[in-house]
Amino acid sequence: MSVTHRIVVVGAGQAGLQLCETLRRSGHTGPLVLVGDEPHLPYQRPPLSKKFLTGELDAVRLALRPAEQLAKLDVALKLGTAVLAIHRDAHEVALADGERLGYDRLVLATGTRVRRLPAPGAALDGVCHLRGLDDAQAIRDRLGAARRLVVIGGGFIGLEVAAVARGLGKDVTIVEAQNRLMPRVVAPLVSEHYARVHAGHGVHIHLNTQVEGIVRAGEALAVALDDGASLPADLVVVGIGVVPNVELAREAGLHCENGIVVDEYAQSSDPAVLAIGDVAWHRNVLLGTSHRLESVQHAVDQAKNAAATLLGKPVPYAPVPWFWSDQYDLKLQMAGINRGHDSVVLRGTPDSGAFSVCYYEGTRLLAMDSINQPLDHMLARKLLAAGVTVPPTAAADPEFELKTLLPAG
Ligand code: ADP
Repeated sequence: MSVTHRIVVVGAGQAGLQLCETLRRSGHTGPLVLVGDEPHLPYQRPPLSKKFLTGELDAVRLALRPAEQLAKLDVALKLGTAVLAIHRDAHEVALADGERLGYDRLVLATGTRVRRLPAPGAALDGVCHLRGLDDAQAIRDRLGAARRLVVIGGGFIGLEVAAVARGLGKDVTIVEAQNRLMPRVVAPLVSEHYARVHAGHGVHIHLNTQVEGIVRAGEALAVALDDGASLPADLVVVGIGVVPNVELAREAGLHCENGIVVDEYAQSSDPAVLAIGDVAWHRNVLLGTSHRLESVQHAVDQAKNAAATLLGKPVPYAPVPWFWSDQYDLKLQMAGINRGHDSVVLRGTPDSGAFSVCYYEGTRLLAMDSINQPLDHMLARKLLAAGVTVPPTAAADPEFELKTLLPAG
């Protein structure tokens, strides 16, 4: 691989932009093209369900880099332009505007799209899915005048929107299909704490509940639930997860599972094509597993990993994954991946508002969720990175100082 190669990056999000920056900073002098189907400059997504909705942060401040800084990168930005096909034999991508772009190396950072509510009425005006900036803007535009909000999906997105809307004094109801909040990512203990906090803020929560359909009822909407209830709403926000944008890769014959399959060097089944960020079903050698992750940390770290590969200095991907969610005055910080855990140890008391939950497979610490315990979170990341476990009895003692377990140096 040469620093003069022509690299085309598809997807102008956090991962795509980070890759371009790292390549330039690391001495890549060849042409770089960043193609994105959204019309916006690359922007941060996490605030879309938080401070952007309240109006505390505007669209300009969402930009990951100001336009002048982007210009200095010497990256050909093709925004508002979709890639329609990858022609691997010709080493070209076909753009929606008819252009064909040649590449020496292609990087797919196509991310995910929102899962649409599979119920009648999901496309009605006033029913908003939340994924991109335009979606968030549509919600923000409607939120001011809305009195009653129904949030469908009790994951991070739904709960963050619910917390923001309660802060704005709206009447908020959450509808979650499973029997607890955030069922995909946290232990029941954490779900229960969040359910208590949301209820304490006056949010109505329907668990084990499906939406049968949404209809217009005069000025408002009515959300019909499978338990027979009908919820009046001025605005409905749907946050029921995402699906990876693998179609381009799959149609080009690349190996895909629930994401584009890449190894620990971000390399796909075609040596000229890499994939990074939310769309990549990737291998992490620290964890010894392959999976897809939706997080800023992963987008940034894997972009750096791919840049190293592209520059001919490959380094196996091995960071500790971490995530966060802000709801009310609760900061949930998660370190590691808890999949495969067989026991959970509580550290501290939920009633105090600050505690951690440690996930174990046998005696091996896999992950830790910290609620308003930033020190636990930072130490968990360091311990997991060092491959050090915390004996469950020590973890259960909030007086036990985790930092004493860190290797010296
Ligand atoms: P997000 O990032 O959008 O929050 P998650 O997958 O973490 O995604 O959470 C989505 C939540 O939506 C999950 O808790 C899931 O059980 C819930 N869900 C999925 N489909 C439905 C549905 N049709 N009605 C209500 N909740 C749903």
